[in-house]
Amino acid sequence: MEFNLSGFLVAETQQKKEESVRLLVLGSGPAGLSAALYAARAELTPLVLTGLEIGGQASLTFTIENYPGFPEGVGGYQLGELFQKQAEKFGARIEFETASAVNLSSRPFKVSTYSAGYLADALVIATGASSNHLGVPGEKELTGHGVSYCATCDGYFFKEKRVVVVGGGDSALEEGLFLTRYASSVTIVHRRDSLRAGAILQKRAHDNPKIHFVWNSIISEIVGDRLVEGVKVQNVISGEVSLLPTDGVFIFIGHTPNTNLFKGQLDMDERGYIKADLLMQTSVPGVYAAGEAADPNFRQVVTSAGMGAAAAMQAIKYLEKQEVQAPGVV
Ligand code: NAP
Repeated sequence: MEFNLSGFLVAETQQKKEESVRLLVLGSGPAGLSAALYAARAELTPLVLTGLEIGGQASLTFTIENYPGFPEGVGGYQLGELFQKQAEKFGARIEFETASAVNLSSRPFKVSTYSAGYLADALVIATGASSNHLGVPGEKELTGHGVSYCATCDGYFFKEKRVVVVGGGDSALEEGLFLTRYASSVTIVHRRDSLRAGAILQKRAHDNPKIHFVWNSIISEIVGDRLVEGVKVQNVISGEVSLLPTDGVFIFIGHTPNTNLFKGQLDMDERGYIKADLLMQTSVPGVYAAGEAADPNFRQVVTSAGMGAAAAMQAIKYLEKQEVQAPGVV
């Protein structure tokens, strides 16, 4: 808290410190922390602004079984901590801050958080993606009261309770399987009659006696007074609506990239994914994008980490080139 000489509280925004950095990384998921590791090893002392979720979405995953090097699987949170430790070991700095504004039209690039301002010679955007919401009545009101987007975070509260999982992708099945540790039953409601998820997860889900499927159906309303009591399930073929009693609703219906900050400044596709070329270069030279903010296709921990490393390698080259063209001035 800052006060001026007269003893009045000074608004934080007026007291923003401003710092110059060679490379600023936005986001602390696998892409951001891998970029930080590579840039740190090139002695750029990168600064990472973590965003709201340190470790990104991967840190909310109970076990990651497909990240190479961990044949027994690794906890998502644990993997995030390892990424961070490794990046810090080589000199990356991590600040628990979220970018609230960016200006990519001048150089150095300007990035503001609620308490600070940064001037960056190069930028890696690794802001990831956030869970989609159903947008049905009751969802917003009952979030945190039985509606959740993270089984690893909230599954424990559903011991011996009935839960509904919405979605038919890898996340829905993986999280549904995780929920069977606690819940007495897990009902997966999917809008089609076949799953999008991979074969291994499908087999595991079909083999699990606690998991049941409701096909060709959507949730039209989540009902409950303070706590979730049930969901209205609508069959998309017959139109019939029925009430399914449940204690919890876990929603896994895909993600939206966290790229609003860059709208109008960087080229994006119609869904908001930042357009980056094979060298992770965005439409603004010196700005690179990696991970789910720029990847509508793969969205894996290993691919995000790879994109982050590639983005940092290109940013390093970019900075070196600038240095040669104008020594001491980037
Ligand atoms: P996703 O693959 O996009 O699947 C989303 C699911 O939600 C789909 O089944 C979709 O139905 C359904 N859906 C979308 N909007 C809906 C709505 N409004 N109402 C009802 N259902 C709706 O998303 P994800 O499962 O989060 O996976 C994202 C990426 O991460 C994928 O590339 C996935 O392979 C990866 N991932 C991998 C693992 C793993 O390898 N273990 C684990 C988690 C995620 P339709 O099928 O009809 O479109």
